[in-house]
Amino acid sequence: MRSEGVLDTTKDNHKELANDKKRDYSQYFQTTYAPPSLKDAKKRGKEQVQILKDFSIPENLKDIGVGKKFYIRTYGCQMNEHDTEVMAGILNEMGYETTDSTEDADIILLNTCAIRENAENKVFGELGHLKHTKANNPNLLLGVCGCMSQEESVVNRILSTYPQVDMIFGTHNIHRLPQIIENALFSKEMVVEVWSKEGDIVENLPRKRKGNVKGWVNIMYGCDKFCTYCIVPYTRGKERSRHPQDIIEEVRQLAREGYKEVTLLGQNVNAYGKDFEDLDYGLGDLMDEIRKIDIPRLRFTTSHPRDFDDRLIEVLAKGGNIVDHIHLPVQHGNSDILKLMARKYTREHYLELVGKIKAAVPNAALTTDIIVGFPNETEEQFEETLSLVKEVEYDAAYTFIYSPREGTPAAKMVDNVPMEVKRERLQRLNAVLNDISLEKNKAYVGKVVEVLVEGESKKNPNVLTGHTGSNKVVNFKAPKHLIGEIVKVRVTDAKTWNLGGEWVEEKSEVVS
Ligand code: SAM
Ligand code: SF4
Repeated sequence: MRSEGVLDTTKDNHKELANDKKRDYSQYFQTTYAPPSLKDAKKRGKEQVQILKDFSIPENLKDIGVGKKFYIRTYGCQMNEHDTEVMAGILNEMGYETTDSTEDADIILLNTCAIRENAENKVFGELGHLKHTKANNPNLLLGVCGCMSQEESVVNRILSTYPQVDMIFGTHNIHRLPQIIENALFSKEMVVEVWSKEGDIVENLPRKRKGNVKGWVNIMYGCDKFCTYCIVPYTRGKERSRHPQDIIEEVRQLAREGYKEVTLLGQNVNAYGKDFEDLDYGLGDLMDEIRKIDIPRLRFTTSHPRDFDDRLIEVLAKGGNIVDHIHLPVQHGNSDILKLMARKYTREHYLELVGKIKAAVPNAALTTDIIVGFPNETEEQFEETLSLVKEVEYDAAYTFIYSPREGTPAAKMVDNVPMEVKRERLQRLNAVLNDISLEKNKAYVGKVVEVLVEGESKKNPNVLTGHTGSNKVVNFKAPKHLIGEIVKVRVTDAKTWNLGGEWVEEKSEVVS
């Protein structure tokens, strides 16, 4: 089931509409416009995923951006960062060049994140600021894309309150960017194009990667897990895996171009291959093939504990270029809350999996995501999160206060936990996590680690910074020509968030 549509309305019309903030504008335009629909986005039919390889920039749009500049601000996860690389690639092929200033941009795109309310508020705040930029430069095209565009409430709000926006397009419409820009430019009309479809795969999109050292490679799109708190399955469509050959070819190309690190991307990479009808092939099989490619570091994210299988653990144990870092979001330490979250594993299953991973990859650094203050979380249940954190001894964690997302099942749950209790729990959790991180980092002091040098430290341009395979940030002094290389560093100093060290040229025993 899919709904697709384009809304065209003149700017004059649009201003008129902006006067009435309470109206549902999708209703208003229903003859010409199929609005994003979370209900449609939730459906998972039998319709086959189409693999499209026919992307091209129409002849009349190839030079349309010559002499013009674009600016993309990206919010949220690596998936969004990578989508930005694709949009930058498309814009480059249309002649546009990048700029890091909104003031001299001819196109500004906000690639948005819908995961929590404060992520959305940042975007609305930015749209407010950009009103002035638009007023100073009426020829500017301002677009909103990414996960927020997939929500009908957001589209309605933009239509009613932010007339400075020229284009809204969804996560399934990125390959339509040239046509969307053409509509916005030539007809000078507001363009809304958001497909609430289950999703296809467009293989031959251009990409302008950020840097030439670390590359992201999508292995799958979408999510079918429907954790009760999460908006992603609605905004990103159904799970659909890229064909192994297409992924392997992309990684080989990055290796040929001299990239040092590849991260395989998906919302739930462990479900890779489950949607293949005629192929029994999973993430373990894919990693086993990719690890043979001459690329120094191979990462993958994000893992879902439910689908993390023994085949993958067996391949991770082979080491080599597969880094010893696994991001394994647990979300909560109490099995009843995990059930309410529909995570489909218990505390015991999770701990058993961690045990297996630690046995197979003894040096593995484990990181996680945790939500506190899920509706009606009791003090005892929260303490189970604390005890799980102490038991696993995570190297680091992303921690969040639960944020209700309209349209998700958890948003309908009545919640008796006051916000100040949620905040206090978050602080207690972070204190425990920080103590563990510091202890873990102290264990590195005196050891020599391999660091992929990413650039100058933001705080001090005389210091270089990079990551170990285990994802520790290491700061050290060394010549700038080492940027982009993997070098050895002796750790001299450990803090909660990073390590300090000295560059070593001689051969030493390397721990990570
Ligand atoms: N697919 C990944 C997984 O399942 O682990 C994570 C995707 S999501 C972009 C990243 C993290 O955001 C989640 O792991 C979760 O901790 C957090 N998150 C998602 N929805 C949330 C919500 N409604 N409130 C607070 N945190 C949320
Ligand atoms: Fe969201 Fe759960 Fe899917 Fe992760 S697995 S993207 S948390 S629904």
